[in-house]
Amino acid sequence: MSRFWNKTINETTPYVAGEQPKAGEKVIKLNTNENPFPPSPAVKEAIAGFDVSTLRLYPDTNATPIVNAVAEVEGVKPSQVFVGNGSDEVLALCFQTFFEKACDSELPVLTPEFSYSFYPVYEEFYRIRSKKIPLREDYRLEPSDYAGVPNCGIAIANPNAPTSRAISLDDISRICEANPDSVVLIDEAYAYFEEEYETAVSLLPKYPNLCVVRTTSKSYSLAGMRIGYAIASEELIEGLLRARDSFNSYPIDRLAQAVGAAAIKDVDYHRKCREELIRIRRFTSEELKALGFDMPESSANFVFARPPKCIDAETLYKNLKAKGILVRYFKTPGINDRLRISIGTMEEMEEFIKAVKEEITNAENS
Ligand code: PMP
Repeated sequence: MSRFWNKTINETTPYVAGEQPKAGEKVIKLNTNENPFPPSPAVKEAIAGFDVSTLRLYPDTNATPIVNAVAEVEGVKPSQVFVGNGSDEVLALCFQTFFEKACDSELPVLTPEFSYSFYPVYEEFYRIRSKKIPLREDYRLEPSDYAGVPNCGIAIANPNAPTSRAISLDDISRICEANPDSVVLIDEAYAYFEEEYETAVSLLPKYPNLCVVRTTSKSYSLAGMRIGYAIASEELIEGLLRARDSFNSYPIDRLAQAVGAAAIKDVDYHRKCREELIRIRRFTSEELKALGFDMPESSANFVFARPPKCIDAETLYKNLKAKGILVRYFKTPGINDRLRISIGTMEEMEEFIKAVKEEITNAENS
């Protein structure tokens, strides 16, 4: 609290990111859903070929190289793509542009009960009412729960975090159809981690109220570069451009524009990394299940697992941390009996499983 801060800053509880190890600290980092593989070799080439002298000039406001790469890969018009400084910034601008004004009517934004913990922060920050829609058994999202509930907007992560479960394109269609006057935000940060992955981008021609948000942080291994984007109708994208130009017209620097475009265009490398990650996730899930863990089928680059009865999630989290293995534990009731475990390299997951086995053996013998 400070008398120098405005009311909103005084009253908002900021987002707390997963812990980052200090420089030089050797840990197995499975706590913030980063990709264990390096970015595409095309990224290295883009950096090597980058003309440093151009840094004296401001970058392209629209990040056109990235816009064009996304438009080409996704089969949409460049005017349907908006690029921001990480999808966190894109999501914040979406909440501001589509929900803040609409909520003058006192209607809430609907979000799943357990979802990305930044959504409630945006709601507080923009003073938007919020309504959490309970999930069903095993964290399943039931689309009919989003019909007939007055609202000024809907935000759903698909696959959801931290639950790792995905909904189908039919489910998303039903939600868009039931809410034609609200923007339906589908946060696809964890898209692509399924063999037959589906993206809501294919529904855009049908729903002018649908906004799909993506990031290069996860499947493209570029969390350190901060590039996110929205794909939507031209009407929604124009709103985001107006919001951006009232805040920061140059959110993506020149190097990030070159790097982002190179990574997005390297479709083959992207596919290979995803396939490898899915293989390691399968190994991890099978090993954990054999040890008595319970978890929903994951569609993301993490699993959301409840340890067997002999050891509770918080103890396991702390003991793994003491061994230099970081996973994510949420104290929130309803999910505080689980750990969110990002999928690392095969070697990291073998180490992780070995450490978990030791913990379980110790707990059973104590
Ligand atoms: N959406 C979800 C569901 C996430 O978990 C994250 C990562 N914390 C983001 C968006 C933001 O990703 P970034 O800002 O790195 O693009």
